[in-house]
Amino acid sequence: MTEPEGPVPFRTFILKVANRCNIDCDYCFVFNSRDQTARRLPARMDLAVARAAARRIGEHAAAHRLRTVHVVLHGGEPLLVGVGHMADLLEAVRDAAPTGTRVLFGLQTNGTLLSDAWLDLFERYEVAVGVSLDGPPRANDRHRLTHAGRSSADSAVRGIELLRSRPRLFAGLLAVVDLANDPVEVHDYLAAFEPPVTDFGLPHATHDDPPLRADPSVPEYGLWMSRVYDAWLARSDYRHSVRMLEDIVALSSGVRGSVETLGLAPPTSVVIESDGSVEAVDTLRSVEEGASWLGLDVLRHSFDEALIRSCCTGSRARTRSPSSAAPARSWTCAAVATCRTASVPPRVTGTRPSTARTWSTSSDTSRAPCGDTAGTLTRRPSRRRRRVCRTAMGHDALERVQQ
Ligand code: SF4
Repeated sequence: MTEPEGPVPFRTFILKVANRCNIDCDYCFVFNSRDQTARRLPARMDLAVARAAARRIGEHAAAHRLRTVHVVLHGGEPLLVGVGHMADLLEAVRDAAPTGTRVLFGLQTNGTLLSDAWLDLFERYEVAVGVSLDGPPRANDRHRLTHAGRSSADSAVRGIELLRSRPRLFAGLLAVVDLANDPVEVHDYLAAFEPPVTDFGLPHATHDDPPLRADPSVPEYGLWMSRVYDAWLARSDYRHSVRMLEDIVALSSGVRGSVETLGLAPPTSVVIESDGSVEAVDTLRSVEEGASWLGLDVLRHSFDEALIRSCCTGSRARTRSPSSAAPARSWTCAAVATCRTASVPPRVTGTRPSTARTWSTSSDTSRAPCGDTAGTLTRRPSRRRRRVCRTAMGHDALERVQQ
């Protein structure tokens, strides 16, 4: 596939409306990673900041003639802002959209605070809601505990069940992979909630700080996901998408994937923090304090400036020449041409310049944490499954689940 040259406009705007959380997941890249900036940011996005962000989104949509933009309400836990404040935020963004641009709202939550009042609001603004859950309570409890160390599983499941009573709002479920969990059990448990999309995220790790693996000579994460793949195809009545697997299939066929965590297509999302500052790939926080920050904010800068700035940082640099600082060892995995070593943080090399603006990345690191996910799929998807990929679970549906 030929990658596009030059800046590609942002189409997904991730608003960090809350910068606190009512639970305390140990893998959280917002609060428990190397970058602790979030703890110093405003607890919730002020309406003035939201209006400035909305104006910038409208300006960007008009300049690039975007017929659709996605606005994802994110955190921390976005429901901590309260129903009334969220209504004001939604109204501000919708008001600023230029004529001819449709705003599609999404929200990612831990599900524990969902209520009918929230769902009424989401119906009014057509907000698609994704919930994070790592599987059955035993699996979820490995990482997703409350600040008091108690399970959050029951309250998350209660929220999901409530969400299922408004199926039009249910965007999907997102689980983080833990090799200690049984992949089939996790998949089937999530599938039982009948989400339109089930997504899996790999643990955040870096080239210098890879995730736990019992045997690094074995592609353990790839094997784990291949068992999810088999579980997904095992039942003809499953109608949900599994985004990571569909992305791999798409990339293997020369089609662009839906997120920046696989492949080399330039990301089309940008993050607006609760104080209005702008980040490119926020998962770079797992690398080091300041790694994700662009030095821009929506009060003073346009998203076109962020496009140019982010071209010089990790996310977009990888569409240009790989860093000469990359390790010299070559890949043995046949799938690397497709996955390009998965997400951005693992590409950041150990020898790095001092400012985020000049971070270099590589598509040739030798220690991507994922294992050869694509290479370990046990068989090609059936024609039936491919048809599901293209029609029932199109790109818009896939983009609704963000984390
Ligand atoms: S629910 Fe999300 S924001 Fe809250 S601690 Fe867990 S990962 Fe972080």
